[in-house]
Amino acid sequence: MKPIHMVDLKSQYDKIQNEIDTAVLEVIRSTQYINGSEVKKFQADLEDYLGIKHVIPCGNGTDALQIAMMALGLKPGDEVITTSFTFVATVEVIALLGLTPVLVDVLPDTFNIDPESVKEAITPKTKAIVPVHLFGQCSNMEPLIDIANKHNLFIIEDNAQALGADYIFKDGTKQKAGTIGTIGCTSFFPSKNLGCYGDGGAIYTDDDELAQKLKMIVNHGMVVRYHHDSIGVNSRLDTIQAAILGVKLRNLNDYAASRRKAACRYDRAFANHPRINTPARSKFSTHVFHQYTLRIEGIDQFDMQKKLGEKGIPVMIYYPVPMHMQKAYQDKRYKPGDFPVSEMLSKTVISLPMHTELNHEQIDYITENIIEYLK
Ligand SMILES: *Cc1c(COP(=O)(O)O)cnc(C)c1O
Repeated sequence: MKPIHMVDLKSQYDKIQNEIDTAVLEVIRSTQYINGSEVKKFQADLEDYLGIKHVIPCGNGTDALQIAMMALGLKPGDEVITTSFTFVATVEVIALLGLTPVLVDVLPDTFNIDPESVKEAITPKTKAIVPVHLFGQCSNMEPLIDIANKHNLFIIEDNAQALGADYIFKDGTKQKAGTIGTIGCTSFFPSKNLGCYGDGGAIYTDDDELAQKLKMIVNHGMVVRYHHDSIGVNSRLDTIQAAILGVKLRNLNDYAASRRKAACRYDRAFANHPRINTPARSKFSTHVFHQYTLRIEGIDQFDMQKKLGEKGIPVMIYYPVPMHMQKAYQDKRYKPGDFPVSEMLSKTVISLPMHTELNHEQIDYITENIIEYLK
């Protein structure tokens, strides 16, 4: 059996090696390492894929979130609502900008933000909601849109994990994850569903004026060279990374299909297991399985990780500590017990190997060993 990896980027590369090598060599020979033509080309391709007017490439997903909040003119003291069960970047940028992160709980089945808790967290200082489309499935956007309209709030979608997923509105229409709120943010970190071979990210919006601001901020607040109209940052997608992403974007739907197939095979193996909860599929989103995450009551996740590791099966715990219990984000407003679902999830989740190259033999070996471990 081929060795099992959490994410197998080598086997994926092997299948597109000629295209990737050619694309990278072209950039090297062109010497246009910054803002080369491949960046514009990828930007346009991603705009088409997402069905959105403006994509602004940037250095990584964390920058994307920070730049989005800067462009919306959020000011110290403004409150931004997000979840306690997420990757740290979401909360980090809010804190870095001097804004106040207001945490809310998630729903136990989808791991995504609970719109009812968002309602309760609104104050006169609330300026934005940041739903995180965790593990590859959209948050329930329609109730969030209603709340945002009622209170005049921005929605910034943290779409680092769900690029390519479709949100399904109640009337049946579909729209790509990240294109529903005011601004969408994504990451091209190598292990993400559309990953480059280093760091990369993008911000997207349909709003022309906002797009101008975003373009200016990523480039030192500059429109005319050496004239700086606002405080900006330096956050760019390298030309080499854009060339790689251009090749991989063409395969993104096939990649999602491979992930879904693997997920269905996992589902079937665990279907009647008394202790294993397989990932729920929500009515209002397709799933692109950035992660395939089980919930198992009463397990010692780290023991399970160690024992499976000894059998050559890597598994990960995303995420073991909710944000309100992190040292850096402790706040007198919060105490353990405040977000019971996030806390429960942090003790019961386990993410299995999930990538585009898993084969049946590997999946069956993984599921058999998990079932054996739980005996
Ligand atoms: C990966 C990730 C980010 C940050 O992306 P980077 O490119 O690593 O900076 C932000 N939010 C979530 C939910 C992520 O998974």
